[in-house]
Amino acid sequence: MTNHLHDALLAPHRGSGRTFLILADGSRISFGGFHDLAARYAHALRAAGLAPGDRVALQLEKSPHMLAVIAGAIRAGVVFLPLNTAYTPAEVGYFLSDAGAKILVCDPAFAPGLAPVAGAQVRLLTMDSEGAGSFADLAEGQPAEFPTHPRGPSDLAALLYTSGTTGRSKGAMLSHDNLLSNAVALTGAWRFTDADVLLHALPIFHTHGLFVATNIALLSGCAMIFLPKFDLATVLRHLPGATAMMGVPTFYTRLLSDPRLDRGLVGHMRLFVSGSAPLLAETHREWQARTGHMILERYGMTETNMNTSNPYEGERRAGTVGLPLPGVEVRVCGPGGQELPRGEVGVIEVRGPNVFQGYWQMPDKTREELRPDGFFITGDLAVMGPDGYVTIVGRAKDLVISGGFNVYPKEVEEALDALPGVVESAVIGVPHPDFGEAVVAVVVPVAGTGPDEAALRAALAEGLARFKQPKHIAFLPELPRNTMGKVQKNVLRERFKGLFAR
Ligand code: AMP
Repeated sequence: MTNHLHDALLAPHRGSGRTFLILADGSRISFGGFHDLAARYAHALRAAGLAPGDRVALQLEKSPHMLAVIAGAIRAGVVFLPLNTAYTPAEVGYFLSDAGAKILVCDPAFAPGLAPVAGAQVRLLTMDSEGAGSFADLAEGQPAEFPTHPRGPSDLAALLYTSGTTGRSKGAMLSHDNLLSNAVALTGAWRFTDADVLLHALPIFHTHGLFVATNIALLSGCAMIFLPKFDLATVLRHLPGATAMMGVPTFYTRLLSDPRLDRGLVGHMRLFVSGSAPLLAETHREWQARTGHMILERYGMTETNMNTSNPYEGERRAGTVGLPLPGVEVRVCGPGGQELPRGEVGVIEVRGPNVFQGYWQMPDKTREELRPDGFFITGDLAVMGPDGYVTIVGRAKDLVISGGFNVYPKEVEEALDALPGVVESAVIGVPHPDFGEAVVAVVVPVAGTGPDEAALRAALAEGLARFKQPKHIAFLPELPRNTMGKVQKNVLRERFKGLFAR
């Protein structure tokens, strides 16, 4: 009997005493111990009444236990849906009913709020508490062996809901092979081995921390320093024990803001990976100057896992997301799906074993975004250079069309970010009675400096065509971001939508 993910990621570790997880307090969990814990949770999922193919929702703070429940779900053939801990009970209620989840496992602190949305349909179980509603209790005393349920490459493993910054969140159906093929591609591309120690400070309800980082660790047998979240002091303390780190761009900017970051601290490290949001070319260069390391930027999304990566050996080009990963086809297309000549801006489409199976119970949405030939329309705008390097210029939905002209926000943002006194910026389009949309720039000035709008305008006028220059510049102390560090342009558009109302 085979189980595609279990056989590759979990089974090889049975009985191994090697360290898998190093926790913030220094305690360790071995690969073998994790394997056994997953077996107990697989039993607990069965005892809770879940059959193969049923869905279990998890709203849990990051912990080895959450990871082991997920591993248990894989063994039991149960489909898991990890939920962002920031979601409100009302939002969780939507995911539960959309996914038809039978069980919700949550932290005890969330239980009172979640009980009403779970209602009679969904059984609510808590971790780390005792009594009738305790999932931990169901796992207690269970054997460390479990008859793993057979699952093939195309069987559904997970439902991962998209972050929903443009409309209602959708459940991306990820199969066993979507996850495994990507882990294999990334482990090879980034040269992970069992000699590595990966510093893990990402959340595990998202593709980056859950699939990219964890599956690479399980596949390569490398250990992870498994921190509950990104805390600057804790990360600085643990870097000397790591060989690699994966982060969102804000990890890197926060580390750069601390004088303790220097070559001495990270000189021994092998790899820094960034993704999930654009890494400013400036951050890339600053990191290199300070540490001697070039950050390796990659690009992916919930629906596709990882698509492109800068090379491990070869040029890591600042401001680009590199080249297609082995086995992944990437093309830049016009609206009809016709491939555009290199150098032209279009929408990235991807095809490969990494691309999801569609949106859960949304056949129309799936048809809109997944072409019959298997290419997924990512909605990201990009240019592919003559040598195949991909540069993302923004989300198609963030493109501003002002007076009939296309304005790519990234071009204006880069011009602004390069100016003195500017920390970062976000460029959006808001409704305008004459132009359809007007370009609006939201600028974060260097702390303690007064914004000098006239100087910014004068500097922009030197390099940008008039239609690209912002019709309004707003100043904010920081940009709104989601937990993955993505700027929430929808929040900014909502806030500034009335600027030009008549
Ligand atoms: P998510 O599904 O939450 O992982 O979000 C995926 C989206 O994040 C992609 O469609 C891109 O818009 C963005 N993204 C991911 N990685 C990068 C990157 N390296 N540079 C720019 N945008 C990125």
